[in-house]
Amino acid sequence: MKNIIVIGGGVVGLAIALELSESGVQVINAFPRAGDALSASRAAGAMLGAFGELSADDGPEEMAEFDFRLAAQRYYPAWLARLRELSGTRVSQVKGTVIIANNTGARDRDGIRRMHEEAMLRGEPAEWIEPSDVPGLKPAPVHAPSLCLYLKNEHSVDSGELLDAMIAALAKRDNYQHLDTTVIAVKPDGQSWAAKLADGRTVTADAVILANGSRSLDCLDPSLIDDAALPAVSFGKGVSCLVSGAPAVAHTIRTPNRTFACGIHVVPRTASGLLYVGATNFTGIDEDAEQKVQPGELHGLFDEAIHQINTEIRTSRIEQIRVGFRPIATFKRPLVGKTRVANLYIATGTYRNGVLMAPLVAAMIAAELGLRSAPYEGNPFSVLSEQNKTGWEMDRLLDVGVRDLVAFLQDPRSPLPYNRASELEAYVRALLKAAVSNDAGGDALHAMIQSRLKEAPFNETVHKLFYEIGDSVRMPAREAAQA
Ligand SMILES: Cc1cc2nc3c(=O)[nH]c(=O)nc-3n(C[C@H](O)[C@H](O)[C@H](O)COP(=O)(O)OP(=O)(O)OC[C@H]3O[C@@H](n4cnc5c(N)ncnc54)[C@H](O)[C@@H]3O)c2cc1C
Repeated sequence: MKNIIVIGGGVVGLAIALELSESGVQVINAFPRAGDALSASRAAGAMLGAFGELSADDGPEEMAEFDFRLAAQRYYPAWLARLRELSGTRVSQVKGTVIIANNTGARDRDGIRRMHEEAMLRGEPAEWIEPSDVPGLKPAPVHAPSLCLYLKNEHSVDSGELLDAMIAALAKRDNYQHLDTTVIAVKPDGQSWAAKLADGRTVTADAVILANGSRSLDCLDPSLIDDAALPAVSFGKGVSCLVSGAPAVAHTIRTPNRTFACGIHVVPRTASGLLYVGATNFTGIDEDAEQKVQPGELHGLFDEAIHQINTEIRTSRIEQIRVGFRPIATFKRPLVGKTRVANLYIATGTYRNGVLMAPLVAAMIAAELGLRSAPYEGNPFSVLSEQNKTGWEMDRLLDVGVRDLVAFLQDPRSPLPYNRASELEAYVRALLKAAVSNDAGGDALHAMIQSRLKEAPFNETVHKLFYEIGDSVRMPAREAAQA
């Protein structure tokens, strides 16, 4: 292989360009510098969070990704040192992360305990600390954390400096060429690949790597997407801010994952003295419609940051608001490596963890191209694997989806009283299960509701139905537990 086109200039595309050019091949890297404005990579807090991203109920699927995240975290220090050396520029790193669990996030305590448990199992440092010992943590008293866990090896980097360092390192290489434009289409051209560019040019190469984030399939004809057996790629829109005049924070401070997002977090940007506040997450498919920030997104972000992390953030100044589109593939797994079409590769779907994963993903791509040895045993994100073509069981989708929906309904800070959150979960789950099921379960629920409608006016009995419908899913679980 003599030359390769890498599409995309976010953390994934640049890390791949860096890795491939290291091995001597000619790299043509196409991405518009103007695209930085909406790249996920520039908007990222850039926490290198293996443990911080664990949730209490993560099953084998998520744990396979966790193993990869942990390997990526361990791979980072040497990679970062090499990048600093190659670029000659600064890439600031903030050491350590404090995870906080308070009463607002319904499952914070379970999540943080799971992180501690997994850290112990893997021999990684994880220490319970007092909230008063966390520099910069000063929440409203009602949101005081009940548990704080210090993860010494869970660092973060400055994403802007990281990208600039990769660009600087690449600019020094003779076998690297940046094309400051968008790729409109790529297709096979005899034994090669041709990329049609927005500036009217066409370039050819031996192979193509799709690494343009949530737009990774945009350059492919639908028939090629079918031939390559690639699942759909969409995005999780994230909004984050940089503020000045904020209280001093020594480590990243974050909650566990919540409501489809990576919790509320602040990350100090040591070089500029700013504080990063992140992040929202809303999935979508139309980027053009979602480019602007809604007041509600900022409201949610700052309500949580001010009340749960430090009330003094209230009087800081917003210096920058960033939007980014996290790439997510159907079934949530990243897509990495060879496709079913010869010499067409993909590296995307990194969703909430692309900054962490990028260096190891890049090394895996280079290994699949035969340019270096494999840095990780196997490829858990191969699009060639039959196993990666199926999603979760419907029951699990419902469990996790309804859990996050009910938590989302309570954001930013209105926890439902008593145990209404779990009652609401049971109710929504039963209705959704009936709606999606093809078996008699849906019919039975429908018949029960119809019969109640005949007994009394609906508006007078709807609260009873709330419990009855919820019980219809809770009862089997209770019976199973008693058996
Ligand atoms: C608010 C927020 C916070 C996050 N926090 C973290 C975190 O703390 N830790 C972490 O690990 N991850 C985090 N992430 C996730 C991480 O940022 C992403 O997984 C990662 O940046 C994806 O990188 P990428 O290179 O695939 O995509 P992007 O960064 O989106 O880059 C896509 C690139 O492709 C280019 N492009 C698009 N279409 C074309 C085309 N047709 N032709 C040429 N170029 C094209 C764009 O211009 C851009 O350069 C966060 C994301 C967001 C939005």
